[in-house]
Amino acid sequence: MATDSGTRADPAADEASNYDYRNDSVARSGLVDDLDSRIEGEVRFDEYSRQLYATDASIYEALPIGVVFPRSTADVSAVVTYCAEREIPVLPRGGGTSLAGQTVNEAVVLDFSRHMTDLVSFRPEERRARAQPGIKLGDLNAELESEGLKFAPDPAWGDKSALGGAIGNNSTGAHSLQYGKTDAYVEECEVVLADGTVTTFGEVTREELRERADSDGDLEARIYAEVERVLAEEGEEIRSRYPDLKRNVSGYNLDWLVDDAADGTLNLASLLAGSEGTLAVVTEAEVSLEPIPETKSMALLAYEDLIAAMEDVSDILEHDPAAVEVLDDVLIDLARDTAEFEDVVEMLPEGTRAVLIVEFYADDDAAGEETVADLLADRTAGVGTVADPTEGGPVADAPVRAFDAMEAHDEATRTKFWKLRKSGLPILLSRTSDAKHAAFVEDTAIPPENLPEYVADFQEILEDHDTFASFYAHAGPGVLHIRPLVDTKTVDGVAQMESIADAVTDLVVKYGGSVSGEHGDGRARTQWNRKLYGESIWETFRGLKSAFDPDWILNPGQVCGDVDMTEHLRFDPDYEFDAGFDPALEWDNENGMQGMVELCHGCGGCRGPQETTGGVMCPTYRAAEEEITATRGRANMLRQAMSGDLPEDPTDEEFMHEVLDLCIGCKGCAKDCPSEVDMAKLKAEVTHAHHQEHGSSLRDRLFANVDLLASLGSSFAPLSNLATKVPGARTVLAKAVGIAPERTLPSFERETLRDWFDERGPQVPADEAERKAMLFPDTYTNYSHPEVGKAAVRVLEAAGVHVALADRTDSGRPAHSKGFLDQSRETAAANVDALVPAVEDGWDVVLVEPSDAVMFQSDYRDLLSGPDVETLAANAYGVCEYLDAFRLDAGVDWEAGRETLTYHGHCHQKATKKDHHAVGVLRRAGYEVDPLDSGCCGMAGSFGYEAEHFSMSRAIGDILFDQIGDSRGETVVAPGASCRTQLEDWEESDGEPPHPVEKLAAALA
Ligand SMILES: Cc1cc2nc3c(=O)[nH]c(=O)nc-3n(C[C@H](O)[C@H](O)[C@H](O)COP(=O)(O)OP(=O)(O)OC[C@H]3O[C@@H](n4cnc5c(N)ncnc54)[C@H](O)[C@@H]3O)c2cc1C
Ligand code: SF4
Ligand code: SF4
Repeated sequence: MATDSGTRADPAADEASNYDYRNDSVARSGLVDDLDSRIEGEVRFDEYSRQLYATDASIYEALPIGVVFPRSTADVSAVVTYCAEREIPVLPRGGGTSLAGQTVNEAVVLDFSRHMTDLVSFRPEERRARAQPGIKLGDLNAELESEGLKFAPDPAWGDKSALGGAIGNNSTGAHSLQYGKTDAYVEECEVVLADGTVTTFGEVTREELRERADSDGDLEARIYAEVERVLAEEGEEIRSRYPDLKRNVSGYNLDWLVDDAADGTLNLASLLAGSEGTLAVVTEAEVSLEPIPETKSMALLAYEDLIAAMEDVSDILEHDPAAVEVLDDVLIDLARDTAEFEDVVEMLPEGTRAVLIVEFYADDDAAGEETVADLLADRTAGVGTVADPTEGGPVADAPVRAFDAMEAHDEATRTKFWKLRKSGLPILLSRTSDAKHAAFVEDTAIPPENLPEYVADFQEILEDHDTFASFYAHAGPGVLHIRPLVDTKTVDGVAQMESIADAVTDLVVKYGGSVSGEHGDGRARTQWNRKLYGESIWETFRGLKSAFDPDWILNPGQVCGDVDMTEHLRFDPDYEFDAGFDPALEWDNENGMQGMVELCHGCGGCRGPQETTGGVMCPTYRAAEEEITATRGRANMLRQAMSGDLPEDPTDEEFMHEVLDLCIGCKGCAKDCPSEVDMAKLKAEVTHAHHQEHGSSLRDRLFANVDLLASLGSSFAPLSNLATKVPGARTVLAKAVGIAPERTLPSFERETLRDWFDERGPQVPADEAERKAMLFPDTYTNYSHPEVGKAAVRVLEAAGVHVALADRTDSGRPAHSKGFLDQSRETAAANVDALVPAVEDGWDVVLVEPSDAVMFQSDYRDLLSGPDVETLAANAYGVCEYLDAFRLDAGVDWEAGRETLTYHGHCHQKATKKDHHAVGVLRRAGYEVDPLDSGCCGMAGSFGYEAEHFSMSRAIGDILFDQIGDSRGETVVAPGASCRTQLEDWEESDGEPPHPVEKLAAALA
């Protein structure tokens, strides 16, 4: 379907939207004016922007001075020069996904992720690329892929994190056994030094280093002089004090420097790796690349306990794998109880209490199969494999410990293995209690041979501290993710956390490890570097820092400074929460609505682009790429408003407008956020409270009562349809009510679905039918698009179902999405009263409109409680879900050989995991279907009709239009009424696309 969505919508440039996030109400006007006049990029020092940048993915929070979005190296240099002259701290930032607190500070934040995101050059023949620091690793790799190359370090969050952040943290991922860390790939960096000087760090010979060194010279010469001094005087101490590990990112990268210099050359760009923005600001980086492996193969080894798995790691490493990952019994049990992971846990051999997942890169499938065969021949007691082991494969002189194993050579099974491995974090992070699985000792690195003793001792520390954690992640290089459960809202909890960290540091030193093998020092680990490396190296760090940054303005306090792990906690004993209103919805979790407000842990998962991450996650961020339009931004602001960090009450007009107005309530976060943050539900609560305190607009009330309006419109059709076509009528509607003039307004049918059905009656008698369906004629279907309802009736009857129409048409969804929760509750109660007796009499309730179906299935449970609402929820179905769930279409006679359909599902159905049904039924009816991995279409009920939201709605729509353009389908189908309106208004469209049930009706023989 080759199309072009044409000029892309830009919500930020739309004056009708009028958001302050581009036009700040400025707190520090002198500073802001000065910076503004010096740079091309944007300068934001307003309260909201500062709060938005007060957190990262860590347990910390520190309010920055302001935020700057540089557009060029010259901008960065101008900001740093200005700040250096006044000793104002500066903090570079990429995706802000750091876990140790290194990306929050009382500083001027330089956010590179907005404008400095270009791939500057790509030289495949040299396996080199040069890029700006704000480019996401996922985007970088997407550009390199066509040449079979990649930036090899693969931090798990590469789709959301940036190259500058990877350098800052010396990042790497599950395949570090194969590739090492970022330091191995940074060949050259253009940097801005702490005085604003722009220079380049790359490879130099020791001779050149000495020539450039001058302890009385300019800043750059003094840096070279200090590096030379360190090499000359501290080399031995560095060699003896640094642990011998594949992964150590604590402190500065001095062991790398010393090793490098031993060969006669060294590279200061690699010294920046892991420096966490404390030495220089990277403005461009040249990186070397690796070929994408031809093929992969995997094995999953099952153990009776975690220690047995740990004992096996060293022997498995003899087989030269690319990754060895571990998952313990705590996570296996949690995953077993989570619907999303049930299928992957089910595949595990019975009795599995720990697994090691081993991945190999191979030149071809046969080689991959043989490598797995060799591994399993060696490390299991004869588990059968698809290939025979080779002669002379590695054989460990150690007992077999795995009691069973599986192998994976196809994409689907490999994906299942990785899904199992990644099941841990989302489950751990969905706790809504005050106690959280906090990241503060979550990435220690230990020589793999010491893992069994280390894990046993670690477990003892946890027991001594009366808490627990799970153990998972990168066993191969000895990096385990361990997040003890602690409650930092209490004094005891903070003390408990520090005491665990202290004991773990001792343990790490005992076993020759490091306090950070992955996530860096930041606020959590800096204080432990002293104990880890000893006083002398600590002083070397500080000397180096002073040479690079004499006034310590670059991310001060971190790596070798004075940050204390117990300060600047996001939740500390002084933290207080007061929403300012009583929740109107049911919150079925520990800590109720507060638990949900505090749930976002800041990982930045909602900042992923649609192209690489897919899914339904936050479309408003994808369209606008502003922190405040991401779920994380909204969640942070809500928590800050409800805990007194913001002057505004969350129900104030200003807060509603700036923070929640653009949330389209798509529920994408509830599905794709690892913690299942449900911003749509939170927005409904706050909007409801806002209406209670400040009243509501005429437009909101009109949209909430759209059922009544539609019924009137239908009664007066076709006259009512003409009214909006009168010249000037759209302008009046835009001015008086705020309806976007660009939108096609719904028209109404004189003959409603009900009229038609009453006239026609059911065609399958109840006594001949296997099932009875009470079709709910929702507002849109009944009054505007009865043809969709008619198609549903025909298909259901063709499937042998006895059909009747429910009496009511309003599901309560419009009032709910406009925050009129009492009204929505009343409607819900009326529907429950009307429909539950029918359900008890054997009827199923079937809905054509997905958002109404989800209302019955899910949102009613937030509005009402009791057995009746559960009964309705359990017996309500979307029409395709109904056909699919009971395989009702099995007996239908379909006409074969029709076109290929592009299927765009509704976000609410995706969020409730009900979206696959339509695809299954359409395929069985003979259609080829290309289902899009699309998010919300951008209409979101009435949102897209609202004048100030039109551009955001279109910008989200553009993402969908591009996906449709890339799809192989000939016809688009979409079950959502608003999605069909968005698609109808797309310039490339041939009118409103059909509902899938219309295509099913068309396929009836
Ligand atoms: C769920 C989850 C999974 C993760 N998995 C991994 C993993 O597998 N491996 C891993 O290594 N990490 C992992 N991380 C941590 C983090 O995502 C990575 O370290 C990531 O590479 C950081 O990138 P960022 O763009 O978010 O950096 P930020 O957090 O924005 O910055 C990181 C550091 O780099 C500095 N910095 C940023 N830009 C510059 C610049 N231009 N010049 C100088 N310094 C700069 C910052 O000051 C900061 O100190 C994970 C985090 C989460 C939330
Ligand atoms: S909303 Fe979810 S995905 Fe986004 S940062 Fe918070 S926890 Fe991560
Ligand atoms: S409901 Fe949708 S738009 Fe709102 S925060 Fe969640 S994903 Fe973003």
